[in-house]
Amino acid sequence: MVSEADCLFCRIVAKEIPADVVHETERTLAFRDIDPQAPTHVLVIPKDHYRDAAALAAADHGLADEVIKAAHAVAEQEGIAGSGYRLVFNTGPQAGQTVFHVHGHVLGGRGLTWPPG
Ligand code: C5P
Repeated sequence: MVSEADCLFCRIVAKEIPADVVHETERTLAFRDIDPQAPTHVLVIPKDHYRDAAALAAADHGLADEVIKAAHAVAEQEGIAGSGYRLVFNTGPQAGQTVFHVHGHVLGGRGLTWPPG
């Protein structure tokens, strides 16, 4: 397991911090965002630590694929796969990334506007 000390999401993977887990595979974990921006707002992460989507894709294409598949499985589980959902990887501070352990936001359950703010 690739983990980093003091990483919030690594601590969730290690079960040192509680989370409302909705989906898990051998290498991915999905849990509800503590500050939901839509009726469904779930974060999907690889259990291994990569700082952002670019680092994940560069290091392990297979794992990036698993994260996206897990996001779709969450959408199906939440009943929003048919109506539509957004999968967002904020990448870097200017995009609003605040936790530097790559995570995809699965957002849905309401009409989502475009462009995002
Ligand atoms: O894309 P960004 O890095 O801003 O997303 C981080 C997300 O992690 C936020 O939506 C925040 O609400 C969420 N979060 C969480 N549980 C924590 C800390 C942050 O779900 N303990």
